[in-house]
Amino acid sequence: MQLFNLKVPSETVSFSQAVKQGLGSQQGLFFPASLPVFDDIAALLAMPFAARSAEILHRLIGDEISKARLSAMVEQAFNFEAPLVEVEDNIYCLELFHGPTLAFKDFGGRFMAQCLAQLAKGEKITILTATSGDTGAAVAHAFHGLDNIQVVILYPKGKISPLQEKLFTTLGGNIHTIAIEGDFDQCQQLVKSSFDDGHARKALHLNSANSINISRLLAQVCYYFEAVAQLPQGEAPLVSVPSGNFGNLTAAMIAKALGLPIGHFVAATNSNDTVPRYWKSGEWAPQPTQATLSNAMDVSQPNNWPRIEALFQYGYLDKSCLSTDAVDEEYTQLAMRQLASVGYISEPHAAVAYKALKRELAEGQRGIFLGTAHPAKFRESVENVLGQPISLPPALAEVAGKEGLSVTLPYDYDRLKQHLLERIANV
Ligand SMILES: *Cc1c(COP(=O)(O)O)cnc(C)c1O
Repeated sequence: MQLFNLKVPSETVSFSQAVKQGLGSQQGLFFPASLPVFDDIAALLAMPFAARSAEILHRLIGDEISKARLSAMVEQAFNFEAPLVEVEDNIYCLELFHGPTLAFKDFGGRFMAQCLAQLAKGEKITILTATSGDTGAAVAHAFHGLDNIQVVILYPKGKISPLQEKLFTTLGGNIHTIAIEGDFDQCQQLVKSSFDDGHARKALHLNSANSINISRLLAQVCYYFEAVAQLPQGEAPLVSVPSGNFGNLTAAMIAKALGLPIGHFVAATNSNDTVPRYWKSGEWAPQPTQATLSNAMDVSQPNNWPRIEALFQYGYLDKSCLSTDAVDEEYTQLAMRQLASVGYISEPHAAVAYKALKRELAEGQRGIFLGTAHPAKFRESVENVLGQPISLPPALAEVAGKEGLSVTLPYDYDRLKQHLLERIANV
């Protein structure tokens, strides 16, 4: 698989290079040089999830990883289900939260860990990533205990749910967690600064692991095929994606470019509505990040957006296939109550997608919204909004009583660099 840098198109890399490097020069994102259109969609949809996913990934990645090896990696990474649940007539939730950290980030995180472990063979690497909540946990669990790989996770102090935090700050070993006194965009900025700093990049053998890594996106493409495979035959559905960094939506749109029958997309954000405003006005005008109930989507400078632009620019999709919608806090809560009233307990991220889907869906159309996290992961807000207790699944109950091991640092690149060079470079 060839990829090129969206900022410096003459810069081309293999899949392996793109996975290891994360970002290209000038912080450019890697994008496939070409995307095939599958002419055997029905046959693909008839396959079991893991086998189908290995087949799709093999067609995209090519011979850099053997099919047998790739199949084994997929079996390891996707060892849990993604059920499509009908919550109302014609409205389905694709539940992506049945993995070890109870959020969809397990799919991308676990496949990326498999790729990096496969590609790095023996070399020491440091995974540096910023999380608005769920990536951190998925990445931490996927890499915990792997030889030669150190993982550093930055997250905004006090801005993620206590249980979310417990899921990745209690592991220890090769997992290092740093609470930054700032917001998620600032954490992301620190990651970018580290990658721009040739010295730090080299000394630490830096590797990125957030949603910009191409391996994560390709992994996520696979569950859209799984959604359509489970959907009863009929019209191509609308798909509503609760969006923060827009990696999940990028994967959805790549799936359509590959030929998967999806009729229309709804990019659903919370009040951090840079993209919905841009889609209306044509003006890219990020505003300060606001804290909301759907905190994993509290992102005002979504870093995957250039890839969505590229899908239009290079003619894979038409702009008319995308609508955008910002759902405020009041409607998020209303949506959670509406879902509860039809017997479906959900959490704020999925509720944002559900609300946006309901607003977009015409009479008789079918829609899928993504359930990106288990409701227990956001227990405090779910209990507050619904006024009923939520029980913890075993994975969460186990970490709830453990002590977090994070250090706290200010939003200051030099301090972070010093810390990393002292604590990580020589491990
Ligand atoms: C990360 C996350 C999102 C946003 O996904 P993006 O790919 O960043 O747009 C939505 N919901 C949950 C629960 C998340 O963890």
